[in-house]
Amino acid sequence: MRIDIVSIFPELVKTVGDFGIARIALERSILELNFWNPRDYCEDSYRRVDDRPYGGGPGMVMQAPPLAAAIRDARSANQGRVIGLSPQGKPLDQTAVEGLASKSALVLVAGRYEGIDQRLLDAEVEEELSIGDYVVAGGELPAMVLIEALVRYLPGVLGNEESAKTDSFSAGLLDWPHYTRPEEFEGKKVPQTLLGGNHNEIRRWRLRHALGQTWLRRPDLLEKKRLSEEEQLLLDEFKEQLKGQEGS
Ligand code: SAM
Repeated sequence: MRIDIVSIFPELVKTVGDFGIARIALERSILELNFWNPRDYCEDSYRRVDDRPYGGGPGMVMQAPPLAAAIRDARSANQGRVIGLSPQGKPLDQTAVEGLASKSALVLVAGRYEGIDQRLLDAEVEEELSIGDYVVAGGELPAMVLIEALVRYLPGVLGNEESAKTDSFSAGLLDWPHYTRPEEFEGKKVPQTLLGGNHNEIRRWRLRHALGQTWLRRPDLLEKKRLSEEEQLLLDEFKEQLKGQEGS
């Protein structure tokens, strides 16, 4: 996958490729990152990309001309969909990430200051995505969040290809609890079922707890999901077990 990032702080976004799975993806040439700095398209010696807002008020606005030139060059090199990171965009969720991960190229546009001149957004940006209902200072961290989320879906990046499919949200559920050695930690033991080799029992334990975690923490997800007969049974079992623990 090729991702071109338009940002006045390319050095910040580059660090996403210095660690973890994004680094592996870059090393294996599964991911390619390219950067376009609107400051390189400024005609003045101060390389200014912002100006005061028409109508007055606080803050500065990113000007359209240098940003437009950077986006157009990125788009002609990349041919991918142009996505703006914005708190006003569609909330980013796992379904959106999965959909974008199937594309071979994307252009990500990071704003700064009070945001970007609306005429540029209307002309060049095909979709806006938000990483949540809060405002950060620039689109670089949101772009990095999106890149890390996308990389998990690229074939050949995660050690275990199944991993992304069982992550929280992938099947409309939260993930199940995970345990590793030691078998006992400060008096607490790993659930017995996970220590045995019965694959069907382990699968049922995991599904029961994924359903249970979702019911406890994100009931809104369960409302959107149609449960199979087995899932309903396992969720009922989880609730019964919980009642038993509370009563003991
Ligand atoms: N004045 C804007 C507003 O209230 O909608 C916020 C501008 S913000 C300080 C500057 C830039 O940070 C935005 O143009 C956007 O690129 C990025 N940004 C801030 N919060 C974001 C979020 N939740 N999701 C995605 N991008 C965000």
